[in-house]
Amino acid sequence: MNGSGKTQSLAAASRDRARGMLAPAMKPSIAPEDLPCPCGLPARYGRCCGRWHAGEPAPSAELLMRSRYSAFVLDRLDYLLASWHPSTRPPRLEPNEAGLRWLGLELRAQRQIDADHAEVEFVARSKWGGRAHRLHERSRFVRDQGRWYYVDGDVAQP
Ligand SMILES: [Zn+2]
Repeated sequence: MNGSGKTQSLAAASRDRARGMLAPAMKPSIAPEDLPCPCGLPARYGRCCGRWHAGEPAPSAELLMRSRYSAFVLDRLDYLLASWHPSTRPPRLEPNEAGLRWLGLELRAQRQIDADHAEVEFVARSKWGGRAHRLHERSRFVRDQGRWYYVDGDVAQP
């Protein structure tokens, strides 16, 4: 790492990844909306997390959680902050480390506590600097004025 300006955005990284999947480079470029959604649901981004990223309220804690994973993949820091409940939202977020690749999201469990509170347990895998990382977290979500928000989470120790 040598200062700012060198940080490769995750959006660029995921474009590279998409290009790899769709190689060779001769093919006409495909709009991001038509690429498979990073969250793992069998849908195109524009019909899946792209809707919540564009401003529609995600209809459940699970879908909000998935859309936050997609936002990590796409480096949508604006969305990560907007979907974070104001009571626990950090002032700002750092972009992903250069070279970090998100490999996938796996939902482990979810629990609807009441109409406006839910928990989602997931594992998100990534690779950085040749090493695999695994984030196992149980996240809490709250619905406030009709919108689901991430509140906080417990990270399971490996
Ligand atoms: Zn999605």
